[in-house]
Amino acid sequence: MVSFFITVDINEYNYIGDIMIPKKYIIFLFIISICTIQFVKATNTELKTDFYGKVIYIDAGHGGIDSGAVYKNILEKDINLSISKLLALKLEYLGATVYLTRDGDYDLSVKNAFPRKRSDLGNRAKLINNSGADIYLSIHLNATTSSVWRGAQVFFDDINTENKKIAQYVQQELNKGRYISEIKGMYMNSRIKIPGVLIEAGFLSNDSDRNLLVTEEYQEEIVDKIINGLDNYFSR
Ligand SMILES: [Zn+2]
Repeated sequence: MVSFFITVDINEYNYIGDIMIPKKYIIFLFIISICTIQFVKATNTELKTDFYGKVIYIDAGHGGIDSGAVYKNILEKDINLSISKLLALKLEYLGATVYLTRDGDYDLSVKNAFPRKRSDLGNRAKLINNSGADIYLSIHLNATTSSVWRGAQVFFDDINTENKKIAQYVQQELNKGRYISEIKGMYMNSRIKIPGVLIEAGFLSNDSDRNLLVTEEYQEEIVDKIINGLDNYFSR
């Protein structure tokens, strides 16, 4: 680019090194280069650069024998995994290093462990604690006996003072109509020392939520909102 500014002006021609180029082409090339610079700048500002250098642990809830909430043939574990993988992909694209507690249909309990659930959750907490990650996100879906409840909600344990802040930022993007909720003594979350939250992305027991949650478009919408919330938290 710099060479355009050190050309020699002789009548209608300029020189770039030994090459003689008509002046009108120089002007054209100059305009093209300026446009290219502007385009690159515009593209770069769209990236969430706050994620560069961040290490994020994503925990896809349940898996294997443990389906989580179930509605007919729709299993929470599958949607959790799908959202988690998409979230990992996007965060990596934005510059984060991402780990997943699981990337397939299995849980993390040791063989024949009893109670299995405790072994599963304990191992997830261990993985996250030993990772050196900056933050963790546990992805789940909700379900209740009443089909009225709907919408995403973020839960936090006050074991770490950052947890409430993360919950507020993510909740604000996911669903302004609901409040974050404190959970105490949950086997996994109360053992995780790095900051993080549990995200219930919606209710499988609600027709409207369920019909959305099974679609890729809505899963992507959820993921984008989580990322925006995290971005706001990191850049606060
Ligand atoms: Zn769950």
